[in-house]
Amino acid sequence: MKHISVFFAAIAASVMTASCISVSTTEFHAIPDSKTPMTMTPALFTNVPEGLVEDLGVENGIPSSMCAFLVKKDGKNILFDSGNGGEEAQLIPTLKIIGLSPEDIDYVFLTHLHGDHIGGMVNDGKAVFTNAAVYLNKDEYDGWGDVDESDMGRAYGEKIVLFTEDDDLPCGIQAIKAYGHTPGHTMYRIGDTVLAGDIMHATALQIANPESCARFDMDQEKSAESRKSALELFRAEGLKVYGMHFPAPYYIQF
Ligand SMILES: [Zn+2]
Repeated sequence: MKHISVFFAAIAASVMTASCISVSTTEFHAIPDSKTPMTMTPALFTNVPEGLVEDLGVENGIPSSMCAFLVKKDGKNILFDSGNGGEEAQLIPTLKIIGLSPEDIDYVFLTHLHGDHIGGMVNDGKAVFTNAAVYLNKDEYDGWGDVDESDMGRAYGEKIVLFTEDDDLPCGIQAIKAYGHTPGHTMYRIGDTVLAGDIMHATALQIANPESCARFDMDQEKSAESRKSALELFRAEGLKVYGMHFPAPYYIQF
């Protein structure tokens, strides 16, 4: 994928933007990947203030989930992350309930490259979303270093469009850097709504204590900084925020 330059990404994005000019209602669908509610054990988190977990009454685990999101906008079907994949995964059955098959997906926007977000991209070494362009932050791509050799890299090849901060993305989608969880972890904003990826793994803990990091945060200091600025943005602008690990109903209205 190294040969896909930022220039290519910019061209692709502007062509696609041109096809998305009509303004219409935007629909958001949360797609939890498991049939039962998920929790995360407090032991997965650092800097948990003493007594907090007990105060929250979450000794048996902090309410969580594993979600992908489907957005219908400007006549396009846009997937944000793809869940875990595998036999238990609910992405494809849920898309079917919404009335979509995998080939109906026009774009996939990835928040980052952890397995619980890209596992659903590939099945048996083949691309699941055969007609989709896959948008990925170039810093995330560069940060992992071996994306071309991964199952997803091989399956999607040149359909992976790397973008940087200044590139226009299709359908008016805006990328917001939230680095730390992974090298190029990215949130996406559509109007007053944000798809926030893994900015928080346990909202009941981390909204009040943004310095608390999940063990999965690769750079914990940076991740905590990103979480604090994200929360400031969410509050300042009263945004509706969907999170890939937020518990049902999978969003918070700030
Ligand atoms: Zn995750």
